[in-house]
Amino acid sequence: MIEVTDIHKSFDKLQVIKGVSLSIHDGEMLAIVGPSGAGKTTLLQIVGTLERADSGSVKFDGEEITGLKDSKLARFRNRNMGFVFQFHQLLPEFSLEENVALPALIGGTKRSEAFSHARKLLDELGLGNRLDHRPSQLSGGERQRAAVARALVNDPKVILADEPTGSLDSHNREELYKLFFDLRDATGKTFIIVTHDDTFALKADRVIHMKDGLIV
Ligand code: ATP
Repeated sequence: MIEVTDIHKSFDKLQVIKGVSLSIHDGEMLAIVGPSGAGKTTLLQIVGTLERADSGSVKFDGEEITGLKDSKLARFRNRNMGFVFQFHQLLPEFSLEENVALPALIGGTKRSEAFSHARKLLDELGLGNRLDHRPSQLSGGERQRAAVARALVNDPKVILADEPTGSLDSHNREELYKLFFDLRDATGKTFIIVTHDDTFALKADRVIHMKDGLIV
């Protein structure tokens, strides 16, 4: 369970999050929607520990993570959080297998284990015959599936996705959301997804609407 209590965040003089509290349950499929500039990405990044709030607290399974030092926070993030972005952000000069293994290697997993887990995940996501390919050799939908494999490699409890279907056509959008639901049902992981996609929001367990830095 993630508990966010009264967080505030400003960039220079711009108040972007103005007092948000939220409990996110294990295994929940949560959609965050709202107009551009509402603070959705900032909230996601604070929950995902990529960004620090100016005040307020974020607790993960009862543990206060807001005040952790950078190095501890990075370890915590690597172990517990998997990220999927709008643009896959795979490294262009590495193969799919290497891209997916990388967060595991950074987390200290043995090389042979990291690569075998990467291969297994890519295989499960239908990319088992693309291990040696570079991201540029894949379609948009395949690249996002590889990004999902990368997000899963450390077996995190939470997957955070920021407009994950923003660069996909409607067929691949549907496929990606189906994959998220299948993974949630199979693994019990929590999914927190910022989206402008109403079709997905309608299917989510809960939808949070943000406006002007607040949940409305
Ligand atoms: P969109 O749907 O367009 O992605 P959003 O709801 O996700 O919008 P955020 O990306 O959280 O909104 O941004 C909220 C506000 O904070 C915006 O006005 C944005 O310009 C500003 N902002 C976000 N990150 C930074 C930053 N690192 N430095 C300065 N301003 C920022």
